[in-house]
Amino acid sequence: MDLSFLGTGGGRFTTISQKLMTGGFRIDGLGGLNYHFDPGPGALIRSYQFGINPSILDGIFISHAHTDHYTDAEILIEAMTSGMTKNRGIIIGSKSVIDGYKKWGPCVSKYHKSQSTNLILGSNKTKELKGFKIKGTKTIHGDPTGVGFQIDDGNLKISYTSDTKYFEDLKNHHKKADILIANVLRPFGKPIHGHMDANEFLNLVNDIQPKIAIMAHFGFNFIKANPQKIAETIKKETGVDVIASFDGMNINLDKIAIDSSYNIIQLENNCKNK
Ligand SMILES: [Zn+2]
Ligand SMILES: [Zn+2]
Repeated sequence: MDLSFLGTGGGRFTTISQKLMTGGFRIDGLGGLNYHFDPGPGALIRSYQFGINPSILDGIFISHAHTDHYTDAEILIEAMTSGMTKNRGIIIGSKSVIDGYKKWGPCVSKYHKSQSTNLILGSNKTKELKGFKIKGTKTIHGDPTGVGFQIDDGNLKISYTSDTKYFEDLKNHHKKADILIANVLRPFGKPIHGHMDANEFLNLVNDIQPKIAIMAHFGFNFIKANPQKIAETIKKETGVDVIASFDGMNINLDKIAIDSSYNIIQLENNCKNK
């Protein structure tokens, strides 16, 4: 099973400026199938850039109705369904994403929903999919129906907070996670409404004690504050392996080993192909 980051930027200004990429992440080989999570702007092009084929997707997860999480969903649905000619795959998202809720969404047109199974996932709701269980996790963020996800394939629990502010109960939604992927917009000492900062993430990691904790979704202030240094500080404080993700980062979850050269290798291969 492979986890690949097609973007590690988040928030309005990192996204508009593309200071970091915003294509979300992929998990390939989950129950033998391939899933894209939160395909923000550039998800399609970053897939090709990092040597990942969008046409072999089996599902797309969209956590909430903010552009940095859904913009490329429809074109990926077209890739998944052979240009809408085949009935294939699953689209999983919050109520806002699939049906729309008040001023939020829907983020996928009726046309693009028509060739795949649609699944609305609320907080604390669990569904059984092929080879794994998926649970919606609570968020407190702009979109009131937004969710995070916890995946359990019987072997590994992978938890993704999506965008949320820190709250007391957050650790219970992600408890027993082996891999914790958290959207940490801000560095130490720079809290912001509706998102986690490094300090709050440190508390969450301490409570959950995952095997690996991965930070993503960096805003301008986080990038300026040196993501690697923040990861090292949290690692020292919690004793947990903490990673500041980078665009193109690939982790083989079977080995739980990081191939930090992935970015460079794939870019070279892509250049050679042209
Ligand atoms: Zn976001
Ligand atoms: Zn958001």
